Amino acid sequence: MSWFEKLKQGLTKTRNVINDKVDALLSFTKTIDEELYEELEEILITSDVGVNTTMKIIEQLRKKVKENRVDDPAKVKELLKQIIADILDNESESVIPKSIPAVYIVVGVNGVGKTTSIGKMAHYLKQKGYKVMLAAADTFRAAAIDQLEVWARRSGVDIIKHQEGADPAAVVFDAIQAAKARKVDILICDTAGRLHNKKNLMEELRKINRIIEREYQEAYKRTFLVLDATTGQNALNQAKEFMNVANVNGLILTKLDGTAKGGVVISIANELNIPVTMIGVGEGIDDLQEFNPKEFADAIL
Ligand code: GDP
Ligand code: MG
Repeated sequence: MSWFEKLKQGLTKTRNVINDKVDALLSFTKTIDEELYEELEEILITSDVGVNTTMKIIEQLRKKVKENRVDDPAKVKELLKQIIADILDNESESVIPKSIPAVYIVVGVNGVGKTTSIGKMAHYLKQKGYKVMLAAADTFRAAAIDQLEVWARRSGVDIIKHQEGADPAAVVFDAIQAAKARKVDILICDTAGRLHNKKNLMEELRKINRIIEREYQEAYKRTFLVLDATTGQNALNQAKEFMNVANVNGLILTKLDGTAKGGVVISIANELNIPVTMIGVGEGIDDLQEFNPKEFADAIL
């Protein structure tokens, strides 16, 4: 199955709420009037696109309809799709590093899909020809270390780990030395996401960052925040909280399969000034890929 087919299949529930409702509405609408805009607005809001983003989309739609003198409701869908693709296209930066060596830190609350996304990302980058290494800097639970190890094996990359309860910054320190010695291109660090203890989390990330600054200055550094799409608009709030404690410059949205709340991706792209880098539509090793705005708009509308 191609990635686009997989994406489309994964986004079925989201498409059912957005596309099917838009189709149904447009099929019995004869003129483009106030009522149509209101109905479209409601569809978008109930699809987790969020109020602010919905308002922006409808406003742009009105403008486009006027500018292009559109009077056939059937043409509204194509305009809507264009507007959504444009909003999603906020200078997304590829997960392929601008230079090597690179070091990626992956943050996010417990259960959003950090560890599995790292495993899939390692596989993706390895397939692109990069030498990847993982650092098990989520030392909070032994199970988290084991889980990352399983993914390292699955994607065929090295992993650096310590015991449960070890200092995460010490794991990162060792991983950097190993990455240098083994000429690794991309080092990806898993972290524990205890957001309920903001002070600890901040301190932990600060320590990790300090080690990287000191030991791996030459590395191209990025911090990815993982968000669970099934939490809808809550994911947006979570992102805002993390942006207060970490210098996040890429987003990974997981679990878009099995949720009707995929509209949140549009909301996130519009409201946060951080590009969506990758999206996940399943638990398989190939189920996380680079985000493509046009492809996404095509898959939901
Ligand atoms: P972490 O606590 O943030 O490291 O989260 P994990 O990586 O352990 O993932 C938590 C659960 O979410 C696991 O059961 C994963 O298989 C699942 N998961 C992660 N990404 C996806 C996805 O894109 N789709 C689905 N359906 N499940 C996912
Ligand atoms: Mg984990």
